[in-house]
Amino acid sequence: MDAVEQKILAAVDAQRETLLAFAQDIGAHAEPGFFETRTAARVAELLRGCGLSPQTGLARTGVKAVLQGGTPGPCAAVIGELDGILCPAHPAANPENGVAHACGHNAQLTALVGAALALSAPGVAEALSGSVAFFAVPAEEYVPIGTRQALQKQGVEFCCGKSELLRTGGFDGVDLALTTHVHMIPCESDLLLGNVACNGFTSKTVVFHGKAAHAATAPHAGVNALNAAALALNAVGLLRETFRECDTVRIHTNIREGGAALNVVPETVVMEAMVRAATLEALDDAARKFDRACTHAAEALGAHAEILTYQGYMPVRPAPADPALLAAAAALPGLSAQCAEPGMQNIASTDVGDLSQVIPVVNFTHGGTAGALHSADFAVTDVDKAYIAPAKMMALTAYHLLKDGAVLARRTMDGFTPVFTRESYIETVRRQG
Ligand SMILES: [Zn+2]
Ligand SMILES: [Zn+2]
Repeated sequence: MDAVEQKILAAVDAQRETLLAFAQDIGAHAEPGFFETRTAARVAELLRGCGLSPQTGLARTGVKAVLQGGTPGPCAAVIGELDGILCPAHPAANPENGVAHACGHNAQLTALVGAALALSAPGVAEALSGSVAFFAVPAEEYVPIGTRQALQKQGVEFCCGKSELLRTGGFDGVDLALTTHVHMIPCESDLLLGNVACNGFTSKTVVFHGKAAHAATAPHAGVNALNAAALALNAVGLLRETFRECDTVRIHTNIREGGAALNVVPETVVMEAMVRAATLEALDDAARKFDRACTHAAEALGAHAEILTYQGYMPVRPAPADPALLAAAAALPGLSAQCAEPGMQNIASTDVGDLSQVIPVVNFTHGGTAGALHSADFAVTDVDKAYIAPAKMMALTAYHLLKDGAVLARRTMDGFTPVFTRESYIETVRRQG
């Protein structure tokens, strides 16, 4: 272990109680995406305590502070997500809004703040060739359509934090991003290094239009929109055999409006769906088949399906463990680590996917928790593995990327082929709806 690594580890250990108190405080005051004002203020306060000058209000609630290294070089963003998830049954749910940190984003913010404390410690920043942008970002969890439409009227055009930050220039000048999360797929090790592939998704709202009539005396005069939705759900289910296993397609739905009155043939039924798949191509294919099933199931019963498509998240592009992650994990011999492998697939989605289509993402996930994500039983069971170790990993990884003329950061950047430029990303999202 070199002297800078020792300083990083000592700096995090020296701030252990501050970091645990921060994690606890954020965990007890979870806020929904794009409304994380208290959380953002706490992050900004701690970044100011590191001698940094955070910008606030990026994509509404984002906070970014840049630490300059000793010599010029690339900019690595250390990312933490600000939002909680609606989970009113969670014991730590915010009584005001039912939102809880049942996805562990308070651990990410603790890692971010811990990394800022460590990298701004005396003798550390000087060893970096480049800069580190500590970036707390809004709204990773998918925002409900109604909220999104209200936000659009206030100028938030895109549906999630990283996407909106890409649109508004928050990532301009950032050469690569470091992200972390509690384990998103089952993992026995304390650390999982590298980017596991994650499904992307497209969001759909299908309005089935029928015709009202007396449900007992004149159903022949009506068109039952609920029956049209039921037939569409069956048709979507029967598409299953047309999806390849490797595309990990998953379609899930709910009925938001099922009819106005029990004795009236349902005239309008609103169904929502998420169509998920592992690649952009598979996503297009599954979404087209979903639309076709809904359209023609409705027509079969004399109804009409109006299909509204909304921006979802893009798939995470898989990547092996970055050499900087391996070097960081080697400095933490008390933790078990394994690497992401081809074939590992997370069926859920994250807007880290959008970022991974545009800039390189260096990611690890960590343990220290029990229970299922987004569930009432999700809990941190080991504060050192959930809060302290990720802070050390973030700081050490940033250091290894940027030390010695940022040779590892440059290697990662050179090895990355973007799918989109910022401009073509924005155009593509606007075409999606
Ligand atoms: Zn989540
Ligand atoms: Zn999450």
